[in-house]
Amino acid sequence: MSSPPIERWIRPEIRALSAYHVPPAEGLVKLDAMENPYGWPEEVVAAWLELLRGVPLNRYPDPGAARVRSRLREAMGVPEGMDLLLGNGSDEIIQILAMAAGGPGRVLLAPEPGFAMYRLIAAFTGMQYVGVPLAEDFSLDLPAMLDAIATHQPALTFLAYPNNPTGNLFDERAVEAIIQAADGLVVVDEAYHAFAEQSFMDRLGCHDNLLVMRTLSKLGLAGLRLGLLVGAPGLLGELEKVRLPYNINVLTQASADFALARRDLFATQTRRIREERERMYGRLGELPVTAYPSVANFILFRVPPGRGETVFAGIKRRGVLVKSFGGNAGPLADCLRVTVGTPQENDRFLDALAAELGARG
Ligand SMILES: *Cc1c(COP(=O)(O)O)cnc(C)c1O
Repeated sequence: MSSPPIERWIRPEIRALSAYHVPPAEGLVKLDAMENPYGWPEEVVAAWLELLRGVPLNRYPDPGAARVRSRLREAMGVPEGMDLLLGNGSDEIIQILAMAAGGPGRVLLAPEPGFAMYRLIAAFTGMQYVGVPLAEDFSLDLPAMLDAIATHQPALTFLAYPNNPTGNLFDERAVEAIIQAADGLVVVDEAYHAFAEQSFMDRLGCHDNLLVMRTLSKLGLAGLRLGLLVGAPGLLGELEKVRLPYNINVLTQASADFALARRDLFATQTRRIREERERMYGRLGELPVTAYPSVANFILFRVPPGRGETVFAGIKRRGVLVKSFGGNAGPLADCLRVTVGTPQENDRFLDALAAELGARG
């Protein structure tokens, strides 16, 4: 039998993609995905389970997710007069934006290196993707950004603030200049807001084309899949039309509401993560690597030339999974990204790295 005509069924742009790869982490210390390593105290888990007991799985979720929405409004400091759109993770919000504001023949623009989903979702939705290289120190190359905006007239521009995988905050005035120069929508992606505590939320009223996106994932609820977009009601009302009616399931709605009512817990955890980040950064400074300053819950570092892949594999053999940016070309040559874990996990990582580099940690 001949093989099925997949080439006829599936668009060429999709066939050209490689699927988003999530490496197996079984048995490894998992420091590859910016997850919060801490769980909840036993009494909190017990109260949460008790709450779930009463959640009716036979009913569709509240399509407007009213309770969790008002909880988010308060927890995230959403300005008066601004509205929220909820997504099944902020990944889904990027997709909603691409479907509503983008689409075939339109441009999605983002600085690079940046978050991989911008490029992938542009491809899914038939958009043209334009990546604008960051400066060598991973700051925004403002002239290059303004030039690309003038040339390509992007329907959507994404700025991760702080940026992933580089960990830095872009210059506020440069971001401001981009928002002003862009005719299309500019989304400031604040996925790491809990760690950086810098935000464009307060400027929503100043720019019609500005949207601020956040997520509960990096805060400590990656498994729930809940992201939010904040912006002017008229604009969000249009985006709402593209959102599938029940995209936030009943367990997520109930659990997010529960968790956000106990925000102190996350504040304590994120404080601990920030302290650990500083300790790790200091330790990395004693090793033959270049570590980039981070205000997020991860650190990007560069190992000696040509050793990126072998060091990644060596660390993994020693039981710790980080993220490798592979290849030996481009701005992330020989770069690895480590998520800040518990002190014990971080020590496992630092010891493994030191051993791999033949240095003493
Ligand atoms: C992790 C991440 C997201 C996606 O978060 P989810 O809400 O889990 O989909 C979005 N933007 C950036 C920059 C991220 O690093």
